[in-house]
Amino acid sequence: MALSVHSDGSVLGVDWSKIQTVLLDMDGTLLDLRFDTEFWTQTVPARYAAEQGITFDCARDRLDPIHKRESGHLNWYCLDFWSETVGFDVAELKRQHCAGIAWRPQAENFLRRLRASHCRAVLVTNAHPETLNIKLEQIGLAGWLDEIHSSHTFSAPKEYQSFWEQLQVSCSFDPKQTLFIDDSESVLASAETYGVSFLVTMRQPDSSQAARGHTTYPAVLHFDELFQGLPHGN
Ligand SMILES: [Mg+2]
Repeated sequence: MALSVHSDGSVLGVDWSKIQTVLLDMDGTLLDLRFDTEFWTQTVPARYAAEQGITFDCARDRLDPIHKRESGHLNWYCLDFWSETVGFDVAELKRQHCAGIAWRPQAENFLRRLRASHCRAVLVTNAHPETLNIKLEQIGLAGWLDEIHSSHTFSAPKEYQSFWEQLQVSCSFDPKQTLFIDDSESVLASAETYGVSFLVTMRQPDSSQAARGHTTYPAVLHFDELFQGLPHGN
């Protein structure tokens, strides 16, 4: 096995010689989910309340059921859907707050090491292309990655098998030699169904929230737990 795991679910190490492709999620994995949590639970409802002339709590009460209904589907990640729903330009609002976008600990060092290794590093994100642009402008992610794929291009989020089928056509990876790292366990379950062999999740996707004690999939707190066996890079 390429992935050795402690009985408490922590990752002990990766045999990198058995991995050819590393698929990486962006929000909550490479980047701190704190920005997205604050944006969707504070910034958007506050602006919606101001636009509608209602209280913040009333705005949350109107928006929460829509979040619940769309969770796990492409609309949940779609800025066009949300702009239409709330009646203002959500991408523009996101751009105004982009200073809050930040790396997770050791994420850039991990990408540097992957870059120096034999592994191909591929970003696979449910982020809308406009969100992706804002984040790539703010954080120097792109230079470390061999490929970047937004699920919006495939009209199917990572939670759907159709995403994986189309990703296979686009970037041709061997699921048996692929490590996929994502903070969403429902996304990891979808990858497992497709046949991706090695799956790792994050204990603390959002630095403003407590670390998760129990996870279904092997977990790391920070990326340095995966460094052993990778070259140092420059
Ligand atoms: Mg994520």
